[in-house]
Amino acid sequence: MSSALVWIRRDIRLHDHHALSCALEKFDKVYLCFVFDTKILDPLPEKDKRLTFIHQGLREVSTHLIEHGSDIEILHGDPCEEIPKLVKSLKVDALYYNRDYEPYAIKRDTSVTKTLEERGIQVKSFKDSVLFEKEEILNKQGSVYKVFTPYKRAWYEKFMQVYSGEVPQYSFKYSSLAPNKIKKSISHHDWHKALGFKEDLPPLTGGTSEARKHLQKFKGHIKEYEKARDFPAMEKTSNMSPYIRHGMISVRDLLRRGLEDKSSGHQVWTSEVIWREFYQMILSCFPHVQKKCFKPEYDNIKWLGGTKEFKAWQEGKTGFPIVDAAMRCLNETGMMHNRLRMVVASFLCKTLLVDWKKGEKYFALKLLDYDLAANNGGWQWSASTGTDAQPYFRIFNPTSQSEKFDPDGEFIKRWCPELKGFSKKKIHEPSKADMLEQADAKCTLGINYPHPVVDYKLNRQKALDMYKEGIK
Ligand SMILES: Cc1cc2nc3c(=O)[nH]c(=O)nc-3n(C[C@H](O)[C@H](O)[C@H](O)COP(=O)(O)OP(=O)(O)OC[C@H]3O[C@@H](n4cnc5c(N)ncnc54)[C@H](O)[C@@H]3O)c2cc1C
Repeated sequence: MSSALVWIRRDIRLHDHHALSCALEKFDKVYLCFVFDTKILDPLPEKDKRLTFIHQGLREVSTHLIEHGSDIEILHGDPCEEIPKLVKSLKVDALYYNRDYEPYAIKRDTSVTKTLEERGIQVKSFKDSVLFEKEEILNKQGSVYKVFTPYKRAWYEKFMQVYSGEVPQYSFKYSSLAPNKIKKSISHHDWHKALGFKEDLPPLTGGTSEARKHLQKFKGHIKEYEKARDFPAMEKTSNMSPYIRHGMISVRDLLRRGLEDKSSGHQVWTSEVIWREFYQMILSCFPHVQKKCFKPEYDNIKWLGGTKEFKAWQEGKTGFPIVDAAMRCLNETGMMHNRLRMVVASFLCKTLLVDWKKGEKYFALKLLDYDLAANNGGWQWSASTGTDAQPYFRIFNPTSQSEKFDPDGEFIKRWCPELKGFSKKKIHEPSKADMLEQADAKCTLGINYPHPVVDYKLNRQKALDMYKEGIK
């Protein structure tokens, strides 16, 4: 009887799973495993919502497999050691997995592949988390695209050419699942203690069924997406990012939803899903972005902002309400609306004059949907150092962004309740409120809410000079 092991990583689901589907078709007996990687886990704090989210997703996979007489093996350690050990003990003929484009993952997978191939084990990797990877989409000169709009056009052309406009779907064959021999299931109630963590519940529950519920709910909002997507208080985006990050839903599920209608909402939303692919491609083709600016001339910028400004930003105590509300929301929930990510990222580099890499690192620690490619792309776009980035002299004014995208201050009031008493106008800029207005609002600046940590106008000019000097 032939057998294979499928290594689940950032694809915690059973349906529409490329590697799993191919293994189930080809082999008589298919085992599944997941490794809690100590190299990733060790630097994390004791509480991390992502671990609970991943656990919830794995538990759902396990429950489903147990119902069909199988299960998923959960390991804890270094995958470069754990995977070869498991392959040996199960005596399987092959290891199958879906590709991951992050530099650490590529190094890890190359090492595991080498170890196993030296032992005569077949190792096969599959494209799953994107429709088109790396150099599959090239311009007429044979180079990869560095600008999104022509990339998107070429993406659609390729989609028609390769898939005739039909999103592919991978099947699942239950009869090939290996019988359950696993002693300790993921459902074990002390799972987090075994990993050395404390349980920390995320605002969204992990797992495919929850992902599907959110995607179904979004069906009711997608037509209004183009208009509603920029208003954080409305909560009209899909919330798919943590699910797609951990592969609890497939990118093909998202594309099927986006392409099922031609409304402007459907088109704009599909375009966002293609942005995700664009940044995955950028990371694969230009791995230097992980540590440096995409545009090398921006590496010379001498950032003027210090610890005081960075700390105020992290804690949501800058004295700029929209920024503080967004950062407090991130700290509490691990989530942040896209418009606010752009506002706080631009604010950190172009108003507080702090290196974007520090902000990127902080987001990496906090975001439930943290994804190296999308996070790095978003930060480099905001800092004007990346592909397709806005020019450095385009600086978001936090007050006008707030007035435009949170006109009634609804989002601000949710996260900075001390500002509730201010008028619709002053809530965006309480530093402009006189003593009487502060008394009426029961909020004294410097006591109940901080004074602005910097002077916006002054720092705007400093930012322009800092960038100009750096890139000359
Ligand atoms: C500074 C900064 C950092 C970011 N960090 C991350 C990150 O770590 N992980 C992450 O998934 N997204 C990141 N984004 C992109 C975006 O903010 C989130 O994908 C989006 O807010 C998720 O909410 P949603 O699922 O409701 O999105 P929707 O608006 O419903 O969009 C649908 C899907 O499209 C993709 N998407 C949407 N916008 C973008 C974008 N600009 N870039 C890439 N993919 C996109 C996501 O997978 C998202 O789930 C970042 C953006 C910025 C400006």
